[in-house]
Amino acid sequence: MTTSTSPGPKGTVPEPPPVNVTPPFGEGGRGAKDGLRAVADAVRARYGEDAILTDRQQLRTYECDGLAAYRVVPGLVVFARDTEQIAAANRACHEHGVPFVARGSGTGLSGGALPHAEGVLLVTAQMREVLAVRAEDERAVVQPGVINLAVTGAAAPHGYYFAPDPSSQQVCSIGGNVAENSGGAHCLKYGFTTNHVLAVEFVTPQGEVERLGTMAPDAPGYDLLGTVVGSEGTLGVVTEATVRLVRKPEAVRTLLAGFETTDAAGAATSAIIGAGVLPAAIEIMDGLAMEAAEAAVHVQYPAGAGAVLIVEVDGPAAEVEAEFAQAVRLCEESGAIAIQVAADDTERALIWKGRKSAFAAVGRISPDYIVQDGVIPRTALSEVLREMKRLADEAGVRVANVFHAGDGNLHPLVLFDGGRQGETERAEEVSAQILALCLAHGGSITGEHGVGSDKAKHMPKMFTAEDLDTMQLVRCAFDPGGLANPGKIFPTPRLCGERPGRGTGPHPLQQAGVAEVF
Ligand SMILES: Cc1cc2nc3c(=O)[nH]c(=O)nc-3n(C[C@H](O)[C@H](O)[C@H](O)COP(=O)(O)OP(=O)(O)OC[C@H]3O[C@@H](n4cnc5c(N)ncnc54)[C@H](O)[C@@H]3O)c2cc1C
Repeated sequence: MTTSTSPGPKGTVPEPPPVNVTPPFGEGGRGAKDGLRAVADAVRARYGEDAILTDRQQLRTYECDGLAAYRVVPGLVVFARDTEQIAAANRACHEHGVPFVARGSGTGLSGGALPHAEGVLLVTAQMREVLAVRAEDERAVVQPGVINLAVTGAAAPHGYYFAPDPSSQQVCSIGGNVAENSGGAHCLKYGFTTNHVLAVEFVTPQGEVERLGTMAPDAPGYDLLGTVVGSEGTLGVVTEATVRLVRKPEAVRTLLAGFETTDAAGAATSAIIGAGVLPAAIEIMDGLAMEAAEAAVHVQYPAGAGAVLIVEVDGPAAEVEAEFAQAVRLCEESGAIAIQVAADDTERALIWKGRKSAFAAVGRISPDYIVQDGVIPRTALSEVLREMKRLADEAGVRVANVFHAGDGNLHPLVLFDGGRQGETERAEEVSAQILALCLAHGGSITGEHGVGSDKAKHMPKMFTAEDLDTMQLVRCAFDPGGLANPGKIFPTPRLCGERPGRGTGPHPLQQAGVAEVF
């Protein structure tokens, strides 16, 4: 792996290390098709015909992830079965200058697994083995295609579970979770995926197999594992993950409190956290989100509520009883009009089913919707929600809100009817204005869904050119050829080793309009 020089202070980004740029699609007159054919031959020779997909109709199955607004039919699909196969595919891609995109379950909501038309889509869905559960070490070792909930399934007989719980946990893969640093309702107390990944096996864009991290915490040296987690497949492919298991708590109590407004639910959130209670999760759903979830899973939300707050407290039984009583009291003092306490696991599961199905359920109350993802400081919740409503009213669209209130991670769902003249554009405009609102309040353009294809254009609103150059230095240290998931995260593809205003003329790729220097 190439190493990077450490970046200097802001504004004085050092020159990227000189590297040999392997332009995508091969050099010396070989075209994209030749490169793809060579990769297909290399994989087919070792793993057989059913390890690849070349038929255009079948390739269409993989043309998008969970963000179906972006679609690209991949040049070739490789069904990965083991690490060596991914290494062989990456080596062939490297040799022939072919871009590649890793894909887990394809549930990403930022177009991160959007294929490259002249590249390889490496699908890890068949790498679904839980390799080890080591309860005594509180660790599990899993292949990248293992479904999030399957880790908990394997750990449960030992009294453990996997804490990061994206709402898509029944279908999304650990490889995707690692690449997106995914979060979920219970990440407020337990931390995001990055806090639960101790080591990975990782195949570089050159096809080398590396191990990053160890079973022991806090290895010396640069935190390359931390760099890979959340890198959205732009540094290489995760082929195995060692994850932390968390002991099942002795007690869990869950309540659902109805409030007249989201403001009041937000005030209750601040009161609970301000009182020093750290619930496992605090989630808010507004009236529209409740309407959608009710239609799908019949939770029977409190009548007259304009918002509900879900509070879950877990831990040692005595502590849970005290904290839960405190949470109930604070909800009442903040104006709760009804409080339902889950009597057992079935009632708790129903509360969570309503919350976790809210995104998909919105399809029941609107023909089209955009799922937005931004973060704000929790204290700005009321103001941002009010401003969001004003923007939506002005544009004549509706916004449903369901969010991780405890850590200020918003998921506004902008509802619209694409069949109505101009409504799609207005919804997109509101969606972009919501991100601007998050930034204006000191927040971020994404909380957990990643940048992918969708938000690359927003990166310069949050980062300076120097910031982005520094990130490029990191990417180029791993992937000097720019072959790993190109076109994601960065607003414009750039060639490693090139700096604005330098060089002896445009690179052939620039002349071909394939890449540009920024
Ligand atoms: C209904 C719904 C609810 C959701 N709720 C949440 C939520 O609560 N929290 C949350 O964080 N997200 C949520 N998501 C988004 C999504 O499920 C997560 O981002 C998830 O981690 C993606 O996993 P995946 O296996 O589907 O990855 P994919 O969509 O296949 O890929 C996502 C990214 O990871 C990269 N990647 C995949 N596998 C690898 C690998 N082995 N090595 C390197 N890179 C890889 C891809 O290139 C891509 O950039 C939700 C999505 C849906 C549809």
